[in-house]
Amino acid sequence: MIESIPLPTLDDPVDAPFWAGCRHGQLLIQHCADCGRAHHPPRAMCPHCRADAFVWRPAAGTGRLWSYAVPNPPLLPAFAALLPYVVGVVELDDHPGLRLVGALAAPGASAIGGVDPAQVGIGAPVAVHFIAVTDDTTLPCWTLSTPTPAAIPAGTPASREDLS
Ligand SMILES: [Zn+2]
Repeated sequence: MIESIPLPTLDDPVDAPFWAGCRHGQLLIQHCADCGRAHHPPRAMCPHCRADAFVWRPAAGTGRLWSYAVPNPPLLPAFAALLPYVVGVVELDDHPGLRLVGALAAPGASAIGGVDPAQVGIGAPVAVHFIAVTDDTTLPCWTLSTPTPAAIPAGTPASREDLS
């Protein structure tokens, strides 16, 4: 039985800087120290040039919902306790092609949720919002920058060209 939502391992050298950044309110993105390209999720080796040295640079922390899901029961108890909630896949404004997965939260919230799924749509502008789920673990979540009545509801066919 899963008693709580899965939490990241914080001491893995590959992504420890990412989680430390979250704990300090910074969205850090891994960049290859050799070719300079950005990656997410963090990797032990650059997928472009095979270098294994990296630098971490802060991202602006804004993006658009590339996709999202609204979980429905039956869910494991730890997730059912969060209902209703929305999980988004966010493409970063300053790193086109890099996408992060995170739950949506209300502005200023200290917990996941509090977002009306009817206000969520593909292409919606979002901003990162860090939520401490334990003393050590802070998750990057997302808040809607504005309600998006013109956003595209999930399930509506749309071309990616319409979203830029
Ligand atoms: Zn590289």
